[in-house]
Amino acid sequence: MSKPILCLDFDGVIHSYSSGWKGARNIPDPPVEGALSFMEDALIAGWDVVIHSSRARHFGGITAMRNWLRMHAGNSWDSMGVALADVRFTRWKPSAVVTIDDRAITFTGVFPSLVDIRAFKPWYKIPAVICSEELARYYQAMANRAAGKATLGDAITIARGHPGPPEQPVTFASLTGH
Ligand SMILES: [Mg+2]
Repeated sequence: MSKPILCLDFDGVIHSYSSGWKGARNIPDPPVEGALSFMEDALIAGWDVVIHSSRARHFGGITAMRNWLRMHAGNSWDSMGVALADVRFTRWKPSAVVTIDDRAITFTGVFPSLVDIRAFKPWYKIPAVICSEELARYYQAMANRAAGKATLGDAITIARGHPGPPEQPVTFASLTGH
């Protein structure tokens, strides 16, 4: 019996995508925290883990994603038994049992309003709860920016557990999408 397919989007789910789109073969950012161990656990649990990304439609896109995964997997790439090298990449949307995507809404049988669609944000663009000094400074800086006292591109550091990769400098542009 074939294994059930777990379909994963790449950018914003596996690849942290904090730099935004830099081309189909250019994958500059680290994995989302927990992404690699999640895929390992899923493989061990018997899922056929398939990454389906628009990058795959471009020449060299699948090779670039595979090389990126191999680079970040380290010893988990090719260990005995289940390994991240077993993760598959497809050019076509697979017949998945479940799909994880940062830019999707689960259809419940009731269509969302167009207002909700317009307001949709992926997880890394949802405003964070202020629970660190850094974030407090960020919001202060945002207020300053609104008042014309700060400029686009001013960098701050956000703490672990907040949208964006941990301890990585982010800019107004990356946080606000401007
Ligand atoms: Mg995505």
